[in-house]
Amino acid sequence: MLTYNSYLTPRSLPEALNVLISAKGSVVRLIAGGTDILPWARQGRAGDVHLDTLIDISSLSELRGVTLRDGTLHVGAATPIADFIRNPLLREHAPVLSRCAVWFADDQIRAQATVGGNLVNASPAGDSQPALLLHDCRATLSTLQNQKLVERQMPLSEFILGPSKTACQPNEVLVKIEMDSLKGYGCAFEKVGHRRSLVISTVCLAVAVKINWSSKKIEDFRLAIGAVGPVPTRITEIEKFLVGKVPDGKLLRDAAQMVADYVRSRSRQEYRREVLVNFVERGAVEALSRAGISIERVAKELS
Ligand SMILES: Cc1cc2nc3c(=O)[nH]c(=O)nc-3n(C[C@H](O)[C@H](O)[C@H](O)COP(=O)(O)OP(=O)(O)OC[C@H]3O[C@@H](n4cnc5c(N)ncnc54)[C@H](O)[C@@H]3O)c2cc1C
Repeated sequence: MLTYNSYLTPRSLPEALNVLISAKGSVVRLIAGGTDILPWARQGRAGDVHLDTLIDISSLSELRGVTLRDGTLHVGAATPIADFIRNPLLREHAPVLSRCAVWFADDQIRAQATVGGNLVNASPAGDSQPALLLHDCRATLSTLQNQKLVERQMPLSEFILGPSKTACQPNEVLVKIEMDSLKGYGCAFEKVGHRRSLVISTVCLAVAVKINWSSKKIEDFRLAIGAVGPVPTRITEIEKFLVGKVPDGKLLRDAAQMVADYVRSRSRQEYRREVLVNFVERGAVEALSRAGISIERVAKELS
């Protein structure tokens, strides 16, 4: 069970950072949706946990809101996962995250769970990470220096350092992420786990594809995998292999075989390899279908 002496609800980011920074010697944690931190503090995981202070950052205006500027989406870290399904701007410019969100937990958890919490928790099975990698996501961290807000920004690949490890320092808050718009891309998100509902990924995969309609060739192909290694990974080898080619069944099958070597998990390696190869093929077919290449035509060639 999680217990604490004080539960604070600061009204601004500087106020939250002041508490965080001045907490030297006492045990302080940030909380957003609480969907990781609450199950973590229970028997079998961290066990009973007592904190001096919990700082609730879920309502801070600096961490909320979604805007689009010059083709870049700015998404507050406290944005709930549910917004990737219900916000029209995110649905249009981040279609792969909308598909990912459908697979994420259930309605209640999606309404609570934040995208920032998912990143800072840095679970190898975190579903948003492969989808965000496709967007060339950048994480913005904020702290106070001489009572002035200072920010630093880094690509997601430098933010997530390993299982439960990120570049976020104890005196920092993840305030927002910036992402390239993938408007007009065909997308797919695939996920499998141990059970049918509320599933934690054993393998997950995100795909986005753009077609050049004058040449009918693949103009851009983005592929990232998660839960099969310590950190999510873009598979640039496959991306480069597919760009500039006219998609057909054999091409997709050949591309899918290349992913097998990227399984790094120690457990269930053979299973994960087989699933991943099938996911790449299926995800590419589905993404192409959403981009406007008839799935019937490609599916027929695959059979
Ligand atoms: C039933 C259930 C089903 C789930 N299903 C899925 C699933 O399908 N896919 C999936 O990926 N995850 C799943 N999760 C895990 C969880 O919902 C997500 O990881 C969620 O996004 C965490 O966000 P949160 O806001 O609830 O984080 P919290 O629990 O509030 O925080 C998590 C950690 O991040 C820190 N933190 C939070 N926000 C910030 C910030 N802005 N800056 C710095 N530190 C911060 C906190 O201090 C804490 O250490 C599930 C959880 C449950 C309970």
